[in-house]
Amino acid sequence: MASQSKSLPHLTSSKLFLTEAGIETTLIYKRNIHLPSFSTLPLLSTEGGTEALVSIYRDYINVALAHSTGIVLETRTWRGSPSWASELGLSIPQILDLNRAAVNLLQDLRRESQTPSTPIAQENYRSQVHVLAEEGVDMLSIMTVTNLNEGIAAITVAREFNLPIHVSFSIEIDGRLRGGRTLDDVIREVDRLTENYTTYFGVNCAHPRHIMTALRDLPEDVRLRIGSIRGNASLKSHEELDNTLVLDRGDVSVYVGEFCGLLNLLPELKVVGGCCGTDEEHLEALISLVELDFNERWTDKLLMKFGLISSSKVTEQFFKIGADDTYHDENGWRW
Ligand SMILES: [Zn+2]
Repeated sequence: MASQSKSLPHLTSSKLFLTEAGIETTLIYKRNIHLPSFSTLPLLSTEGGTEALVSIYRDYINVALAHSTGIVLETRTWRGSPSWASELGLSIPQILDLNRAAVNLLQDLRRESQTPSTPIAQENYRSQVHVLAEEGVDMLSIMTVTNLNEGIAAITVAREFNLPIHVSFSIEIDGRLRGGRTLDDVIREVDRLTENYTTYFGVNCAHPRHIMTALRDLPEDVRLRIGSIRGNASLKSHEELDNTLVLDRGDVSVYVGEFCGLLNLLPELKVVGGCCGTDEEHLEALISLVELDFNERWTDKLLMKFGLISSSKVTEQFFKIGADDTYHDENGWRW
């Protein structure tokens, strides 16, 4: 039996994938192309036929890309078994060769169309993590995860390099991930699909009030998997923040007050910090209020060399970082 270790993205995606539409009827009625026995396989033997297929595949792919979802494409091998050879005017070697061509065509299209949220993510992470591991990071961290495939790809690679990994989800103001999934659902699913490899999970890029919405009804076993919270200063939604031109530092006392409300829910919390809009004043207020022992519990975390791998392009679309928003410290870290 073939190995099932090759992960199929549509089995683990939080979003419904698309598949094809009526490619045969499009060819016949819209492109006036004759299909012997309704089979598209013979088209692969000519340049014009192949081009027609590619252009229809591309139309489908573009719909999927525009909606940031994946697509399952079928090889054009229906009625491509040897018993159909004579019916299609082909020899058996010829029909088998066209089967090969059908697979190659989709492989080319996949190479051309893959995005970071498709399995190529794993490849991307692998080369980056290879460098981070070689240079000796202690732990990997993937932040602002909204896409389960991406999280799973990062965990898979962390495992290959035997590195601990922190997986932090970004939530919306309703306490759910973009797309509507709950924290309960995604943490359980990621753990199930990766055999609890994640060292701890986190939540970031949401105000502590909205994180509370996500945590309030979370079952205890899932809450125990959360080791990191990094709250936004602002109560605004991601969409509102994206359209804000000024820094929204929020109200620091409200921030830490609501942050503290989270602590009792999270007995396994290891690190606290800020996300968008926060600065050292938020950290100072937070650390004072939660009364962590700065010397014993905090400095070791600060000194830890985190290998941060970036999250999705989707996230970057929502949080455009301009040159003015960042600076590099003397160690080369970007803040
Ligand atoms: Zn943020």
